[in-house]
Amino acid sequence: MMIKPNPLVMIPGPTPIARSVMEQLGRETISYNDLRFSVEFKGLIEDMKSLWRCEDGMVFIAGGSGTMAMEMGISNTASRGERVLVCSNGFFGDRYVNICERKGFDLDVIRAEWGKTVTTEEIEAHLAKRPSSVVVVTHVETSTGVEFPLREAASMIRAGHPDTLLVVDGVASVGGAEFYMDWGIDIMLTCSQKCLGAPPGLGAVWASPRAIQKRESMPTIAESYVDFVQWIPVMKDTMKYWGTPAVNMVWALREGVRLIKEEGIPERDRRHRLYAEAVRRAMGALGFKHKAPIELASPTVTVFLYPDEGIDDAAFRAAVYDEGAQIAPCQGQFLGKGFRIGHMGNITPSTIVSLIAAVERGCVRQGIKIELGSALAEAQRVLTGV
Ligand code: PMP
Repeated sequence: MMIKPNPLVMIPGPTPIARSVMEQLGRETISYNDLRFSVEFKGLIEDMKSLWRCEDGMVFIAGGSGTMAMEMGISNTASRGERVLVCSNGFFGDRYVNICERKGFDLDVIRAEWGKTVTTEEIEAHLAKRPSSVVVVTHVETSTGVEFPLREAASMIRAGHPDTLLVVDGVASVGGAEFYMDWGIDIMLTCSQKCLGAPPGLGAVWASPRAIQKRESMPTIAESYVDFVQWIPVMKDTMKYWGTPAVNMVWALREGVRLIKEEGIPERDRRHRLYAEAVRRAMGALGFKHKAPIELASPTVTVFLYPDEGIDDAAFRAAVYDEGAQIAPCQGQFLGKGFRIGHMGNITPSTIVSLIAAVERGCVRQGIKIELGSALAEAQRVLTGV
C-alpha cells in the first residue's frame, strides 16, 4: 500500500504546526496557578505587548476561537445605542455586522463589492456625516483575499476623529501581515490557528489604553466571559483566576510567538508577501485567476477563481487532497466558483513547492489541461528571485 501521510494544511487556518509548537501540547499539564505556569503565561503576554507595540495597553488571551475574540473586541468598546460603523469586505465582515446587530447599536454598514475593499475615503466621508464611537474593519478578509489599507485608515481616523475607536479583525493577518498598535489601532484581535502558528483554541485581543479607558467608563456589560473587567486582573497578575486558562495551548502559543520574535515581524511580512506572489504566479500559469486586485492582494490567503469551462470544485479539491495538499473551498457568493489557499504561518519554500506540485498533479488527475511543471517554474522563479 502506498504511504499516505497527512496532506499539507494549506487552508486559511489551521496552518502547519512547527514541531516545537506541537511539543508544548504534549507537556504534562500543571495547574494554571502553579507559579511556573504563571511566569510563562506572563512572559507570553509581555512578548505579545512589546512585539506589536502595545506596551501601555493590554493583551487578553482566552480560550475560544476568532469569533470569541471578535465578540470580546466589540462588547468592550461600544454600548447599546452607540453609533458603530462596520466596514465589510466579505463573509467575515458580514459576521461582524451580525455580531453588532445583536447588540442594539446604532449600526451603520459600508459594504465593498466582493474582491474589493472599503476605502479610507469612504470611511472618512461617512464619519464626516455620521460620527461614530467605533469603526470596525477586517484587516485581511479571508473570503476574498483582500487586504484592507489599515495603516492609512488608522492614521486618518486618529487625525480626523480622535474620539473614534478603531477595532480590527486581524484573524487572518496577525503574525503574517505587519501591523503595530501604535499605528492608531484600539483593538486588534486574532486567534491561535492562523499566522501565529499554533493549533485552534485560543483567542487574543490587544487593547490600547483608550480602549481600556472606554471599557472602564462603561456600565456593566451583558457579556460575562469576554468582559475585559473580568480579565484585567488575570492579565496583570497571572496567578489570579477568572476562567481557567488553556494551559497547554498557552504554552503552544508562547512557542509560536517565540518563533515570530525570532524571525521578526518585518521579515515575516516580507516572507508572507513573497510566498503569496509565488502562489499567485504559479496558479496563474495553470489558468486560475486571483480575485483580489494585485494592490489589495493579501500576503496570507489568496482566493482563486476557476476559468469559465466549469471545473467540478469538490472533485478538484479532493484530487489535490489525494495528491498531498488540502486547499479550502470558497465562501458565500464565491462558493463553488474557486478555491482558497492559505500561505500563512510557519511554512517554508519547500511547503510552497510541494503545494504547487500537488495542485499540478490534481489538475492532471481531473483532466484539466496544463503544462506540467509550468506552475512550479513560476514559483521557483519568485522564490529564488531569478
Ligand atoms: N475573521 C476572519 C478574518 C477569519 O478568517 C475567521 C476564520 N476564518 C474568523 C474571523 C473567525 O474565526 P474562527 O473561525 O476561529 O471563529
